[in-house]
Amino acid sequence: MKKGFLSLLLVCCSVLACKETNTNNDSQAKLNALAAKYVRLGLTIGQYDADFVDAYYGPDSLKPMVQPKAVFPKDSLLAAANNLIGQLIEFNANEKNDTLAGRAKWMSSQLIAFGRRINIFSQKYQLFDEESKDLFGVIAPTYPESHYQALVAKLDSLLPGQGSINARFEKLASQFIIPKAKVDTVFKTAIAEARKRTLQHYQLPANENFTLEYVTGKPWSGYNWYQGNYQSKIQISIDLPIFIERAIDLACHEGYPGHHVYNMLLEKNLYHDKGWVEISLYPLFSPQSLIAEGSANYGIEIAFPGTEKNKFVKDVLLPLAGMDGKNTDLYFQALALKAQLAYARNEVARGIINNTMSETEVNKWLMNYGLREKNLAVKDINFIKKYRSYVINYNYGQDIVKKYIESNGGTAANANKRWELFQWLLSNAVRPTDLIKAQQ
Ligand SMILES: [Zn+2]
Repeated sequence: MKKGFLSLLLVCCSVLACKETNTNNDSQAKLNALAAKYVRLGLTIGQYDADFVDAYYGPDSLKPMVQPKAVFPKDSLLAAANNLIGQLIEFNANEKNDTLAGRAKWMSSQLIAFGRRINIFSQKYQLFDEESKDLFGVIAPTYPESHYQALVAKLDSLLPGQGSINARFEKLASQFIIPKAKVDTVFKTAIAEARKRTLQHYQLPANENFTLEYVTGKPWSGYNWYQGNYQSKIQISIDLPIFIERAIDLACHEGYPGHHVYNMLLEKNLYHDKGWVEISLYPLFSPQSLIAEGSANYGIEIAFPGTEKNKFVKDVLLPLAGMDGKNTDLYFQALALKAQLAYARNEVARGIINNTMSETEVNKWLMNYGLREKNLAVKDINFIKKYRSYVINYNYGQDIVKKYIESNGGTAANANKRWELFQWLLSNAVRPTDLIKAQQ
């Protein structure tokens, strides 16, 4: 009797479990169909806006079957994005599975960015903060001019000699320009070291690899073009002098544990292992970029914590480049202060996009608070005109990632925990708002 009751109970339970699994399978199939639509829409926008799709390694069957129209179909693309957001909201209204609901929310926030970018591509602009909220999910904090003046005053007392702060900084920095003939060797050495340090903590796909190219005429200093199948094409701009610390910065940011590792972990864990097709499309102007740039910048501190960057430059890179190590400590102190000035570029971008800064003011801000000499200021302005509020992803993105990791126990004193939390971040579809909420 007891046994019979138990078997009946077990049958009931397995029927229930089966029903739940069926519901889950149905929900999953429904969401996968919406994810395919999301990818198709992104690739269609990319037929017109050449900067829209940063990477795609999903199935060919989702690529647009028709040639792009002669005129950008703004209204129909906007309608498609809004329609898909509506379907995802409807899907989530009844969804009890957290994983599926999370995927739907992530796609919705990416699609808000699609809509904003479609408008920008059609020259329909919003103010800087509204734009960054839609594109990257956040509004960056602003600082008054006095904030930057105080930092520059610190730099003023640190830098020796006579003359303007810019001239004195430039004089110091000029001692750390990598000779052209040594650039490739220095970069390859820095990347190998960043990779070695990352491999001490992460298991990466066996066939992972990258190519390295040197380019000119680009508005950025480095770029990772992720190719899929764990391959990256890393490009480094060489039309302006490259300072020695940039070799480590770019090695970590573009490579290990930055963009190359981020893209690989997403591809492996979410696309191949779980079949989330939406991950195979990386739309550049989307909240995903705040995580990408923020983690790539914070990745420098993960791989070379504290004074280790300074040490590696002094012990390895400078001798390799045949350069003098004198003044390295002073240079790194100046660089640390200069890094705190990074938000000044946001103010300049805000001023350009909101039309609240004259050309003279833009140049003054870039010179006084960005410590840019003329060539670099031109490069900055070109970058801002092309990428607009994207600039916040580097500094505010880095701060969001740093705060999330360090407030959850990934402090400098607990390196293993730091690498572990960072790996979680690089392996999941995370929205910037989720990270902000998860700060302890
Ligand atoms: Zn980047």
